[in-house]
Amino acid sequence: MKKALLVIDYTNDFVALNGALTCGQPGIDLEDYITDLTASFLNKGDYIVMSVDVHDQDDPYHPEAKLFPPHNIRGTAGRNPYGKLMELYDKHKEAISWMDKTRYSAFAGTDLDLQLRSRGITEVHLVGVCTDICILHTAVDAYNLGYQIVIHANGVASFDAAGHEWALRHFRNTLGAIVR
Ligand code: ZN
Repeated sequence: MKKALLVIDYTNDFVALNGALTCGQPGIDLEDYITDLTASFLNKGDYIVMSVDVHDQDDPYHPEAKLFPPHNIRGTAGRNPYGKLMELYDKHKEAISWMDKTRYSAFAGTDLDLQLRSRGITEVHLVGVCTDICILHTAVDAYNLGYQIVIHANGVASFDAAGHEWALRHFRNTLGAIVR
């Protein structure tokens, strides 16, 4: 089965303690796991997508404008991958597909589905933050599009512990995901 790794929103703004919309220590704790997993996908030549939220400054039309403080503004370091993942990305940019997204799901308004299908990929591995927001919405879309989903429990986190636990159950019990 051909597989892809989707690294979702593991950026300074979402992870660093001083990030604009940080999920804090639970996110920081993923740094080694996500970096090592990305390196192992790189070693096998598997498809890797860095799916990264992007916003324009003071965009009144974006639905998140009413919900969250400004974050992941285009052209800022807040959008850079966090910590060791940034070092790895810098070294292997040509082998990692950077994909901007403007909604929670990595599939919304992007050509992710087309890119996966053109490579014959049927299994998507999800890591990043937050478990119960962008990982959840991406997983729901992947389910509806017919992909097998693998959630790496040590590679996802949220600022909301109850939401994190609920989402892990939902992935397993409702989306048929492999949670490991
Ligand atoms: Zn956003």
